[in-house]
Amino acid sequence: MVDFLQTPSLLSKGVYLQLVVEMKLLDDAIIRSNEPEEVLTYHYKALENRFIIPFRKVKGKLRRLVLEKQRSYNIQPDCALKDDLCLNCPSCLLFGGTGETSSIKAQYNILSRVLGETFISTNTVEGIRNYTQNAVGEKDLMTGQALMTILTVPKETVFKGVVTIKDPTKEMASVIVDNLKRLTRIGARSVEWGRVETIIVNAKLSDREDISIYNLLQNDASLTDDISIIENLPLVETAYTTLNSQIPALLKDLIERRSPKKDKKAKPKEAVQAEGAEVGAE
Ligand SMILES: [Zn+2]
Repeated sequence: MVDFLQTPSLLSKGVYLQLVVEMKLLDDAIIRSNEPEEVLTYHYKALENRFIIPFRKVKGKLRRLVLEKQRSYNIQPDCALKDDLCLNCPSCLLFGGTGETSSIKAQYNILSRVLGETFISTNTVEGIRNYTQNAVGEKDLMTGQALMTILTVPKETVFKGVVTIKDPTKEMASVIVDNLKRLTRIGARSVEWGRVETIIVNAKLSDREDISIYNLLQNDASLTDDISIIENLPLVETAYTTLNSQIPALLKDLIERRSPKKDKKAKPKEAVQAEGAEVGAE
């Protein structure tokens, strides 16, 4: 029986909380794109043409919300996205960060525990209304011309996706579940998605990532909706506070593991000598 972790662990315990999320557009969304990497629709062999939202957009928005709420509780209020991550707070623990670029120049990295896949519209895209117009190329205003695509995604369009928390405690789950529900607007530089309604329709704890939206959309009956596993989580404020209080001990482990001095204590003499030689050779 797979269960939540009691306390956060740096080493993976192979537990995955998968949240099946439905995001419904409340307004028509207008997408302007002249960037090739801005993927908007996708042709799936079994699903035909669908609107899609790349997971990094969902994750980016979710991270902002998690951080915002954390600040409202005055927990590491100076932690900020881009170059000012503190690598020492619930948000950084959940979404990860690189020590080099952190404000404290931490000697460690944290891997993201929030994973996911592309959100796919539940309906196929009928006759994509795809307008192209000439746009002046940003890099070469004098001579360059780029094709701009404008695409309308009708309101009421529902997207489905899976948000997975790796090695979750109940506190981590509470933070993500609460903030997913607060995801009421999604947007980006060239995408005006506008208002959305986000609900969690299914939740599963497993020793593997075994829910796939691609499969789910092909056979809607393959998974019975059940969110009981996330119904009795700690209150979100308590969850943030508890998680925050667990971080010093967790990071202490990380730093100690990297320190050869600490390793020596735990190992027999021969092993220490061998390791010492290795370190010297580096
Ligand atoms: Zn942080």
